[in-house]
Amino acid sequence: MTLLQRLEQTVALGAEERLLVDSVKRLVGESIAPRAAGFDASGEFPWRNVAELNGLGLNGMFIPEAYGGAGMSYAAYLRCVMELSGACASTGIVWATTFHAISPLLEFGTEEQKRRLAPRIAAGGLAALCITEPTAGSDATGMRTRFAPDGDEIAINGGKTFITNGDVADLYLLFGKWAPLGEGKDAITALIVEKGAPGLRFGRKEDKMGHRASSTAVLIFEDCRVPRANLLGAPGGGLNILLPSLNKSRPSVAAHALGISRAAFEDAVAYINERRQSGKRIVEFQGIQFLLADLAGEQALCESWLWHVARLVDSGEKDVGLEASLLKLRASDLAMRMTTEAVQLHGGYGYCKDLRVERLMRDAKITQIWEGTNQVHRQLIGRSFMRKRG
Ligand SMILES: Cc1cc2nc3c(=O)[nH]c(=O)nc-3n(C[C@H](O)[C@H](O)[C@H](O)COP(=O)(O)OP(=O)(O)OC[C@H]3O[C@@H](n4cnc5c(N)ncnc54)[C@H](O)[C@@H]3O)c2cc1C
Repeated sequence: MTLLQRLEQTVALGAEERLLVDSVKRLVGESIAPRAAGFDASGEFPWRNVAELNGLGLNGMFIPEAYGGAGMSYAAYLRCVMELSGACASTGIVWATTFHAISPLLEFGTEEQKRRLAPRIAAGGLAALCITEPTAGSDATGMRTRFAPDGDEIAINGGKTFITNGDVADLYLLFGKWAPLGEGKDAITALIVEKGAPGLRFGRKEDKMGHRASSTAVLIFEDCRVPRANLLGAPGGGLNILLPSLNKSRPSVAAHALGISRAAFEDAVAYINERRQSGKRIVEFQGIQFLLADLAGEQALCESWLWHVARLVDSGEKDVGLEASLLKLRASDLAMRMTTEAVQLHGGYGYCKDLRVERLMRDAKITQIWEGTNQVHRQLIGRSFMRKRG
């Protein structure tokens, strides 16, 4: 057993959670990993994988029993994200995005909203988290989508860009500005849009470097109508929903990045144990051993921090913003470095599409960009050490 496998065994999961993680591992080995290259090549949305994950009832792990799920720990959820993402990063992010979009509903929704909407996700529905706009990326507070109250309804006008699951979701968690409150960040508001809402249509789908089987779409809202009952929290209370939600989605995208990174490490180790040059296996060269030590060390420390953050969240700690930022930053930088080194260790073969590392390197890049670019995370973390001047 490698040191990374030993670390994995220290994650405290319940008996049912372990069984579920084992089922996910089996599914990954039997069908999700073997299909990943095909989905990457065709760019086809991985509906078959979604159906098989639903066969395991996997969405249920993040929906409480009261709303049709099984309510498992955050650590167990992260473990599954890692497992899926190493095998097929597109499928990993499709599944994780549903969690990112639905956890704010579970945390901030009313009992009526949770009873009405959450069972659809427990039963296998997909969800999308809609924040980014063409002119509001790193600074999401510049969003221009408008929510205008109109009797029992809310009229939505505006657009979102780069939305994962955008054209396939059953539920959309949408952020915009409450028109009567003006243009400032105090006007930011959250609501749920259901599939088929009149006035919602889809624009272009992005043709991407990686994650080619996940769907990234433009959403257009033209006098789109939703019932006022779908308002999440109070008008103007959106930032109080958005910021805590990131504390759960950022560790999740870190787990996704660490899954990619771990897969690249394993492929590289397997290859250099076989490939020979100058009469030796590549792994026997001391320079390569130094590199392996650095990469394994980074992976082990990032995974340890992932489980540290998972324990904090599972213990009910809410103030984990900086821990989550640090995790997202280091995990995604590692995924990029690890996949680049893995390609390098495969020599010319690593640059060709026959081998998984080529795809892993393309899949890794976005992890440094989404859920706050790494420049933004460096700023957030660095700023936290700034002392107030008297
Ligand atoms: C495949 C994919 C899937 C996505 N999925 C979703 C989704 O599901 N939902 C969603 O809402 N969004 C999603 N996004 C959007 C993603 O979160 C944004 O792309 C990201 O936040 C960056 O915004 P931007 O692209 O507008 O870049 P910009 O904000 O324009 O940044 C451009 C560059 O400037 C740098 N920069 C910006 N501000 C600063 C600063 N203050 N200091 C230093 N550098 C700075 C950035 O780091 C970056 O390098 C997705 C994007 C992609 C590509």
